[in-house]
Amino acid sequence: MGALRAGRLIILPTETVYGLGGDASNADAVAAIFAAKGRPAFNPLISHVADLAAAERIAVFDERARVLAQAFWPGPLTLVLPVTPDTPVCDLARAGLETVAVRCPAHPLARAVLAGFGGPVAAPSANRSGRPSPTTYADAMEETGEAVAASLDGGPCEVGLESTVVALLDQPRLLRPGSVTREQIEAVIGTLAEAQADAKRSPGRLARHYSPKAPVRLNVSRPEPGEAYLAFGPGEHRWNLSPAGDLRQAAARLFAYLREADRTDPSAIAVAPIPNEGLGEAINDRLKRAAGYVG
Ligand code: AMP
Ligand code: MG
Repeated sequence: MGALRAGRLIILPTETVYGLGGDASNADAVAAIFAAKGRPAFNPLISHVADLAAAERIAVFDERARVLAQAFWPGPLTLVLPVTPDTPVCDLARAGLETVAVRCPAHPLARAVLAGFGGPVAAPSANRSGRPSPTTYADAMEETGEAVAASLDGGPCEVGLESTVVALLDQPRLLRPGSVTREQIEAVIGTLAEAQADAKRSPGRLARHYSPKAPVRLNVSRPEPGEAYLAFGPGEHRWNLSPAGDLRQAAARLFAYLREADRTDPSAIAVAPIPNEGLGEAINDRLKRAAGYVG
């Protein structure tokens, strides 16, 4: 907490991925986040808060937003909402937009830090820009450990994929699929519109993102010699995302396995077909970006 108050950065675990956190009201701290990530400054960041009351100080909640927050917070759902007139979230963290992305994470360590700090914490994934998100403490430290004044080891991330992002500005839109699935959200507020093709407003939508060094090939049932294979379903493989075919387990392992496979310098990383239902939509979204396909 002291580090955050002093405008320094921290590595903090959340249930989705490890975050690189700084005081969202302090433009110098937010600039340090962009510098550490090597991230283009037009990308707005998610502000993390301890609870709904803290969220309502930074963003305007309508009925739909409140219902979603009640259903899924604390948890891996980010809401993009209009800012309050006196929002503490600095312009740089919002990339100059009159909207703000806000989330209340469930991880006990993140919650303790946010409750102690009181204000919003801007915390993108702790990877350098364009690389897979870190889902273990060691991976987070390897990526941006040099830039932080403090770091918290919360063990491996339970979800392993970045949060679902929903914009509630006009009609509800799914900006980024995640572990809170489209079906779960639609059960609460009705049909979600597709995100507009406006990568500038939601950089998680850039085609090439989350990429390892090796090329990535998708929907591969038989890998070529020299390729690292990320399997899914029954079978003996060094990297099996889920022998039982469980999408939750596959999501939690995805980024760590991409990194581990990449470290062996394969000719390519070949990935087994993943069913595109429920959490599979988010897994396939990240895989397509890792492979450099337009999502
Ligand atoms: P990350 O911090 O890497 O998890 O990425 C944050 C995600 O939230 C990106 O996909 C952003 O584009 C999206 N986001 C953050 N703020 C806004 C905003 N004000 N409007 C639209 N999308 C946003
Ligand atoms: Mg990220």
